[in-house]
Amino acid sequence: MNKDYDVVIVGAGFAGIKASLLLENYNLNICVIDEGIQAGGQFIRYKDGTQNSSKIPTYNKGLSLVKKFNESSITYLNKSELIFINKEKEILVKLKDDSLKMIKPKTIIFAMGAREIVEPFKGWDLPGIITTGAMQILLKTSGKVFANEITIAGSGILHYAAAVTWLEKGGKIKSFYDGNSLSNKFKMLSSALSSSDKRADLFAMSLNMIKIQMNAKNNIKVIEAKGNNKLESIILAKIDSKGNIIKGTEFEEKTSLLAIGNGLIANLDVATAAGCQTIYDDKLGGLVLKTNKLLETTQDNIFSAGASNCIGGADKAQIDGEICAYSVLFKLKLIDFNLYSKLTEKLFIYRKKAVIFAKTLSNMQSFNLNEIRNLDKNTTICRCENIKIKDITNAIEFGLTSINSIKKKTRSGMGNCQGKTCSELVRAILQSKGHNDTSHIKARAPLKPTNINILASEITFLDGSKI
Ligand SMILES: Cc1cc2nc3c(=O)[nH]c(=O)nc-3n(C[C@H](O)[C@H](O)[C@H](O)COP(=O)(O)OP(=O)(O)OC[C@H]3O[C@@H](n4cnc5c(N)ncnc54)[C@H](O)[C@@H]3O)c2cc1C
Repeated sequence: MNKDYDVVIVGAGFAGIKASLLLENYNLNICVIDEGIQAGGQFIRYKDGTQNSSKIPTYNKGLSLVKKFNESSITYLNKSELIFINKEKEILVKLKDDSLKMIKPKTIIFAMGAREIVEPFKGWDLPGIITTGAMQILLKTSGKVFANEITIAGSGILHYAAAVTWLEKGGKIKSFYDGNSLSNKFKMLSSALSSSDKRADLFAMSLNMIKIQMNAKNNIKVIEAKGNNKLESIILAKIDSKGNIIKGTEFEEKTSLLAIGNGLIANLDVATAAGCQTIYDDKLGGLVLKTNKLLETTQDNIFSAGASNCIGGADKAQIDGEICAYSVLFKLKLIDFNLYSKLTEKLFIYRKKAVIFAKTLSNMQSFNLNEIRNLDKNTTICRCENIKIKDITNAIEFGLTSINSIKKKTRSGMGNCQGKTCSELVRAILQSKGHNDTSHIKARAPLKPTNINILASEITFLDGSKI
C-alpha cells in the first residue's frame, strides 16, 4: 500500500466507484474508503454476489461497476471507518483489523451518500419498527425476507423501493400506506420518466409497482405505535394535501412489524469536520455541501459527488462521480480547461435533469410543522440518549435556539449515532417554534464510536511507515 495518495475517495457507492474507475485510467494513486463490506453503497448493499439478483437495470449495472472496481488496482479499504479529518486533509482511518492509519492525500472526493429521516410519532422507538432503509439493507445483505408479512408506511420514495425489493424476494405486504400527495407523486413520476435509467428501472418494476399501488392506501400516515415492549398495533389517520391530520379519521391496525421512512438527507459529518461549508436549501433536500461549478467544496481540492450535494438517485451519483474525477484531473493539471469543458459538457446537461428530479424528491419529504407542534410531549427524539420532545422544548423555552446548544444542554445528538437521526428532528422542532437553524450538528472526532484501546494505539501510514 502506498503512502502518498493522489486521491482519497470516501464512500464506495455509485458516485465513489465511478470517480475512482475514471481516475484509474490516468495512473493516479487512488484509495477508496468505505465502512461497508462490499463496494456499491446503499443501492447495492450485497454480501455475496450469488445471493442477489434483481430485475432492476440500475442494480445490475451497479453490480458490473462493482465487479470492475474489485478487479482494478485501486486500493479499497473496506469495513474501514474515517474517524478523523482536518482542514489540512489529514485523515485517520480505523481499518477492519482495528489498526489506525493516517493518509494525507493531495485531493479528496466526498461521496458519503445519504441517510434516512423519519417523522417521529408516539411509540416510534418500539422494537418491531424499522426504517425502510434498514429494511432494504437487511433484504439486500441477507437476500431473503425476514418476516411473514410487513406493514410499510411513509413518504418520499424509499418505502416504494423497499416494498418492491420485499415483493421481489417473495415477501407478503400486509398494508402499504402512502403519505405523499397525488400531485407530488405525479411530479416525481414525470420527472423520473425524463431519465432513461429511471425509465428502464420503472419499467422493470412496473408489475410490482402496480401491485403496490393497487393495494396502497393513500394520504394516510402513522400517528402512534402501541405495544408492551414490542410493537402490537399502529394508529393511522388520513391527512389533507398539506399533510395535516384530519381529525376523526383515526383507525387502528394490528401489526408486529412496521417499516417507515420519510426521505433522505445528505451525510455531512466527515465533510463538515474537514471544514467544508454547508448550505440549507429546502429544494435540494435540506442541508447539503456548498460547491462551485467544479463540484469543489469550499475547501481547496476537496470535491463532493452524489448525495452529499443533493439526493438525486444512482444516475446523478454516477454523473457527479465522473464530473468530480475530471475536476480532480483539472486541478492536478493533468488536463487543461478546454479538455475539461469538452469532457464534462454533456455530463453537466445530464446533471441538470438529475437535479430537477432531486428537487421533486425533496418536495416529497418536508416535515409537517403543525404535526411536530402537536406531538405528545413524551415522544422520543434522540433514541441513543432517550431524550424526549419535552426536553427539547424546555431547552428552547430556556432560550436555546440552535441544534448545537440544545445538544450541549440535553445530550440530544451525543449518543452512538452522533445525531444522525435526531439532529433533523431538533431542527424541525426549532422551526415549528419559529427558530431557523441552518447549521450542521457539530461533528467531533472520533466521528464513529471507537474503542479507547484503539485510539491509544500507534498510528502509522498505510504502508506501515512511521508518521
Ligand atoms: C439506507 C438507504 C437505502 C437506499 N436504498 C436505495 C434503493 O434501494 N434504491 C435507490 O435508488 N436508492 C436508494 N438509496 C438512495 C441512494 O443513496 C442513491 O440512490 C445513490 O445510490 C447514492 O449514491 P452515492 O454514491 O451518492 O451514495 P451511497 O450509495 O449512499 O454510498 C455512500 C457510501 O459511503 C460510505 N460512508 C459514509 N460515511 C462513511 C464514513 N465515515 N467512513 C466510511 N464510509 C462511509 C457508506 O458506507 C456508503 O457505502 C438508499 C439510501 C439509503 C440511505
